Amino acid sequence: MSIVGKTTGELLDSMNQGELSSVEIVQAFLDEIGRRDNEVNAFLSVRPEKALEEAKEVDQKISAGEQLGLLAGIPIALKDVLCTEGETTTCGSKMLENFVPPYDAHVVQRLKKSGVISLGKVNMDEFAMGSSTENSAFKTTGNPWNVEHAPGGSSGGSAAAVGANMAPLSIGTDTGGSIRQPASFCGVVGMKPTYGRVSRYGLVAFASSLDQVGPMANDVSGAATLLEAIAGHDHRDSTSINCPVPSYSDSVDKPLEGLKIGVADEHFGEGLGDEVRKSVENSLDVYRSQGAKIVNISLPHSKYAVAAYYLIAPSEASSNLARYDGVHYGYRTENFDNMIDMYAASRGEAFGDEVKRRIMLGTYALSSGYYDAYYLKALKVRRLIRQDFDQAFEKVDVIASPVTASPAFKIGELSDDPLAMYLSDIYTISANLAGLPGISVPVGLSGNDLPIGLQLLGPAFEEDRLFRAARMFEKETDWKTLKVS
Ligand code: GLN
Repeated sequence: MSIVGKTTGELLDSMNQGELSSVEIVQAFLDEIGRRDNEVNAFLSVRPEKALEEAKEVDQKISAGEQLGLLAGIPIALKDVLCTEGETTTCGSKMLENFVPPYDAHVVQRLKKSGVISLGKVNMDEFAMGSSTENSAFKTTGNPWNVEHAPGGSSGGSAAAVGANMAPLSIGTDTGGSIRQPASFCGVVGMKPTYGRVSRYGLVAFASSLDQVGPMANDVSGAATLLEAIAGHDHRDSTSINCPVPSYSDSVDKPLEGLKIGVADEHFGEGLGDEVRKSVENSLDVYRSQGAKIVNISLPHSKYAVAAYYLIAPSEASSNLARYDGVHYGYRTENFDNMIDMYAASRGEAFGDEVKRRIMLGTYALSSGYYDAYYLKALKVRRLIRQDFDQAFEKVDVIASPVTASPAFKIGELSDDPLAMYLSDIYTISANLAGLPGISVPVGLSGNDLPIGLQLLGPAFEEDRLFRAARMFEKETDWKTLKVS
């Protein structure tokens, strides 16, 4: 097995046994970036010298017998939405093209403590708004399985980097599906943790009541270890919850006895493609053969999730993005006569179309006279969606559903149709509105060799259960051989 084909656990083992050094591992992934990224275009910046220097330090510590962090010496790709001290953080936007943060995000601090080594920052939809990474101001990322197809989004660079073996691990963020959908499109594992599980300090905000940072990896165990490294309380994020973080990496291999899996009719109705339906059904058979029970449940309000999300998320975005005024942060126009002119021109020149669309939608939904009819109503729907889940989880341990209605669409296929693009998050958005954890795990391949994922949702703070359930499938199968057509 080549170095870049190994899982995080295998890489850690080979370092422990002295078969590989961190320098060799980091070099192998840098070489793979050199070989594949001119085609995939996942990275916005690569830091070869610094990464190798950090790897050397890890190797020295290993030979000195020093105590090391959970992921010491393992390379990672970071979504360019997390502040990195002294290293450009663009958020995929011309607005922040030259923004060099003076501090590290909490997640970045935790990663450094774990000994993980950043290979660089990866591409994303501008301000994490999108489902294809086509909204990046800088480049279009291709799906590593077929570069004419989209990698998904907004964490498309993170998913493509792992899917192309350019990193074993990456960090993504998920506001409405941005970890799970690209993970599904690129054949990698991606988890959106419970709202409050991971600190958002130093994460460039999109929609603050929905945003969560989470792990992406080439296997379930790698994702579990990565979440363990980044989760936990941080007083600098008032929504960060102070409750213990279990050792996900220790428990991930323990199968769940008598697992009850809920399946909702609402997730298998109109619009779901045949290949995805078949793959999801096959995966349920795999669980049945392991003793799991499939139970019918109902999520009657999930049909309103996309509508509610596209009021709540843009409303919060319109408020969060008010800070980009050409004064406090980022881009400032060169052509202006007065201050108001300067605000308008700076924002007009530096924001892309989708970001402007969201700001307008959100400003409208929050405006007096419309607030009650749109924003407030959406909040009420959000509460009903959460109640549906609470009732379902009285009967089942996890809920299984598709991640997306179809495998990766082609680049350009949906970019002129914002509504069709919004609908690509139909199965993922409810978990964000309800604040619940969700994982996407690859379960098969389409007829034209594009990955298909299964989504498992769990009750709040039961990430451990989701990792174990996802691992049960992964252990039992080689998903790349499970082709449906
Ligand atoms: N695709 C959704 C959107 O455009 C979700 C994005 C995300 O999760 N960051 O808003």
